Amino acid sequence: MDYVLTTDKLVKSYRGFKALDGLDMHIPKGAIYGFVGKNGAGKTTLIRLICGLQEPSAGGFTLYGIPNRRRDIAKARRRMGAVVETPSFYPDMSALENLKQQSLILGLPSFTGLEELLELVGLEDTGRKKARNFSLGMRQRLGIALALVGDPDFLVLDEPVNGLDPQGIVEIRELILKLNREQQITVLISSHILDELSRLATHYGIIDRGRMVKELSAGELEAACRKCVRLEVSDTRPLARVLDRAGMEYRILSGTAAEIYAQPKLSQLAAALSREGCELFSAQERDESLEAYYLSLVGGGHD
Ligand code: ATP
Repeated sequence: MDYVLTTDKLVKSYRGFKALDGLDMHIPKGAIYGFVGKNGAGKTTLIRLICGLQEPSAGGFTLYGIPNRRRDIAKARRRMGAVVETPSFYPDMSALENLKQQSLILGLPSFTGLEELLELVGLEDTGRKKARNFSLGMRQRLGIALALVGDPDFLVLDEPVNGLDPQGIVEIRELILKLNREQQITVLISSHILDELSRLATHYGIIDRGRMVKELSAGELEAACRKCVRLEVSDTRPLARVLDRAGMEYRILSGTAAEIYAQPKLSQLAAALSREGCELFSAQERDESLEAYYLSLVGGGHD
């Protein structure tokens, strides 16, 4: 698989405290990678390191295959745009003036494409309005537009919907999906709420206390969270035969327990089992929600 970013046992210590403690992470090309963890888990620290705002204490990472210690990492960073913590912009400038300023900072030869960029993020009608008078959602979209100046193919967003109202959240979500699908931009997006990411992420990395607890695809997460019925029977071998005949998906847990990923008609199932000489002792519906799954990985506690 082609990866935009990989980290290898990445460590960042602040006077002995490890904000990142051997983090391994893999972001496939084309992914919307949801980076989830409680407040203080180390998400912003990782983002600061890959943006070059801070140096790792140990371990390393590769960006587009280039190790962070190599000089041409700067070139790889040109393919990346980021909004770290709150978006920064010139408050007394309009949206377009801000984008022009960013072009100058990046040393780009012209201002072409900036109007299209404003349109892309939905700020084309803001005219001469100063950025200081923008709503929170507009500021966030301006931050994303600024990160997109220079035409990066990797966009890094640190908690982009923090503090936004529901309408603002939907707008940012749709913008991220558009950038990913129409412009093939790989996106790293951090959040402390798994549910919020579940509407757009294709891959997940779950971090806790500076360590990667689990990386998984959206399909794998869905499978881990889907509804299932847990059965206790006298023998799972005849149960497997009955379920195979019915074309149901299941997982055998032991000689007497199994999980079915469907809603079986219990009376019919019990009758079919009895014909096989198998007894059904109990059937319990389980619904592992996203949040329950997340907590099973990182534990409860304050957020
Ligand atoms: P949040 O969602 O709150 O931003 P986070 O997952 O982004 O959380 P980080 O900001 O990466 O977490 O912080 C990880 C840990 O490192 C926290 O315990 C934080 O207090 C600590 N930390 C971060 N920056 C510094 C610093 N400059 N000096 C000392 N400790 C720091």
